[in-house]
Amino acid sequence: MIKAKKSLGQNFLVDNNIIDKIINSADVYNKNILEIGPGTGNLTLKILEKKPKSLILIEKDYILSNNLRERFKHFKNIKVFNEDILKFDIEKNLKKNTVIIGNLPYNISSQILVKLIKFKKWLPHYEKLVLMFQKEVADKIIAKSESKEFGRISVITSSRLRITDSFQVSPNSFRPIPKIISKVLVLEPFLNDSFKAKDINNLEKITHLFFSMKRKMVNKAFKNLFKDYEKISSILKISLKSRPNELSNIDYFNITKMYEDNKT
Ligand code: SAH
Repeated sequence: MIKAKKSLGQNFLVDNNIIDKIINSADVYNKNILEIGPGTGNLTLKILEKKPKSLILIEKDYILSNNLRERFKHFKNIKVFNEDILKFDIEKNLKKNTVIIGNLPYNISSQILVKLIKFKKWLPHYEKLVLMFQKEVADKIIAKSESKEFGRISVITSSRLRITDSFQVSPNSFRPIPKIISKVLVLEPFLNDSFKAKDINNLEKITHLFFSMKRKMVNKAFKNLFKDYEKISSILKISLKSRPNELSNIDYFNITKMYEDNKT
């Protein structure tokens, strides 16, 4: 028996219905697949049964990665990296038309998603993400303006990804059984015409600034960003009295563009 390591967010999926649902959303046959955190290989085995063109596994746990290498050595076109996904150069190692799958380690799931969104080249080489999050995090990712879940991660995600499907997963589908509900999101990259800023890092910076003062009026953030903040807010048609979660995704895209244009 493998003892799950809490520090690595190890909750292994054991529910075959959910595993099948994930695999079906990913559309594996003849695709290049990258799996993040394959763990004991429960998803991996089903991926391989669907005959992908190639498979890359990235697992931080040394013992688990060795087990996977041994267990699946008779498959062709499989590569196991014993690496930390946050340090791994995903963009460089990705083949065209890749589908990225992962029952993510929850402590770093948002960071992983942001890393996938901040690729230098856009559109990226992946065509789809099928990722499991803690429900609370997934709900923030898909949140709409005006809701209380709306925040940085919702805005950043909406600049480059479309959510095409989602489904909830009960704690009983995992071993060990976690305390929280989970949710799978299917996301697809697209070219968002309303996001005109040059550098996605600036969107990260701007949303960080606004949402770190979540209950304050945006007045303060505007003052912090622009000398002519009153003029700029009126050009952007944003009331300085609004709260950060009352602005729309597009408002944040426009603020970011304005910030880039006004930077000297
Ligand atoms: N996919 C498996 C395991 C999911 S648990 C299943 O569904 O059964 C999350 C997995 O991510 C664990 O195997 C854990 O060791 C791995 N992991 C944790 N942090 C990681 C990191 N920084 N980089 C890569 N893998 C990581």
